[in-house]
Amino acid sequence: DVTNTKGNEFEDYYLKRELLMGIFEAGFEKPSPIQEESIPIALTGRDILARAKNGTGKTAAFVIPALEKINPASPSLQTLILVPTRELALQTSQVCKTIGKHLGINIMVTTGGTTLKDDILRLSETVHILVGTPGRVLDLASKNVIDFSKAETFIMDEADKLLSPEFTPVIEQLLGFFPPKRQILLYSATFPLVVKTFKDKHMVKPYEINLMDELTLRGVTQYYAFVEEKQKVHCLNTLFSKLQINQSIIFCNSTNRVELLARKITELGYSCFYSHARMLQNHRNRVFHDFRNGSCRNLVCSDLLTRGIDIQAVNVVINFDFPRNAETYLHRIGRSGRFGHLGLAINLVTYEDRFNLYKIEQELGTEIQPIPPIIDKRLY
Ligand code: ADP
Ligand code: MG
Repeated sequence: DVTNTKGNEFEDYYLKRELLMGIFEAGFEKPSPIQEESIPIALTGRDILARAKNGTGKTAAFVIPALEKINPASPSLQTLILVPTRELALQTSQVCKTIGKHLGINIMVTTGGTTLKDDILRLSETVHILVGTPGRVLDLASKNVIDFSKAETFIMDEADKLLSPEFTPVIEQLLGFFPPKRQILLYSATFPLVVKTFKDKHMVKPYEINLMDELTLRGVTQYYAFVEEKQKVHCLNTLFSKLQINQSIIFCNSTNRVELLARKITELGYSCFYSHARMLQNHRNRVFHDFRNGSCRNLVCSDLLTRGIDIQAVNVVINFDFPRNAETYLHRIGRSGRFGHLGLAINLVTYEDRFNLYKIEQELGTEIQPIPPIIDKRLY
């Protein structure tokens, strides 16, 4: 299923023209969800740990940013793509070649299938991207045939297989050849303990993408405060002053209210972005992108943004307007399960919302507690 969820276009990522041409020639019209999540983050240089089902377009999710970041003028190896099998290595290098056709980038594939001598010969010419299986790549690296000193990106596809006990020492040795400042992108359909161990040991604050799990309220502490409609802004102001907000998302039930509230928040002296259904898609994407980059602490929005939202820096979600049903509640507050981090959800509930609060609580089998005077920082 490669249908697009956020409505992004490949044009939104400011890619090189030649790269965009390659993408379209490959027959891709819009980024798939894993691509929407991956591409902008990978382009910033951050480590990524991604989980998505098979057939969702993971290859292009790392190939596109890798290609974008290659400097063809620099005659050096810049990216290593490691995969567990020969077939996959060939297939992956083919994707690189197709999408990167117009970039003037040299891509080489090395697996146990060809003789070492052949590979050594081919490596005497410039290779920008090397795709290979662990054993053969380590062989070449140990013989000093590959110079990793300018290698910036280390990609592992099917990481769960690559990190099986037999391979792990090989991977560790390979990483040792890389400069200390490198980007690691790791893609996998499952997420066994070996992957977590690798992550903790080698990755720097990886951006975690999980398109596997259902949304869950695990790890999210949920509170409500009974307020009158006209007290809401005052109440929000108090929350802002009391909470240690890393980033927050504040939900309203209509586009009008989004704009009004955003203005009020700005007047209160807090920075805030807003996004709603009547804004142009491009504009919305930019707002979301900038918010995700941390350019602003607070985001006011309507429900259009809720699906698939999982910005880890967001530790507080506020329902300025209480949602009308359980599904909306879950999409606003819920996080994808295994990678779910701690968070706080605060619901401003009017007298009219009362019944809805109990109903949603029951339907989701969760507990929404009255807000205490002091909220323990360890909860979020
Ligand atoms: P995965 O690694 O997640 O199993 P692949 O990267 O092998 O998935 O992609 C699965 C298929 O989807 C491939 O045939 C690929 O060409 C196609 N595909 C990937 N991204 C897109 C896209 N954005 N639009 C259309 N087709 C795509
Ligand atoms: Mg794959």
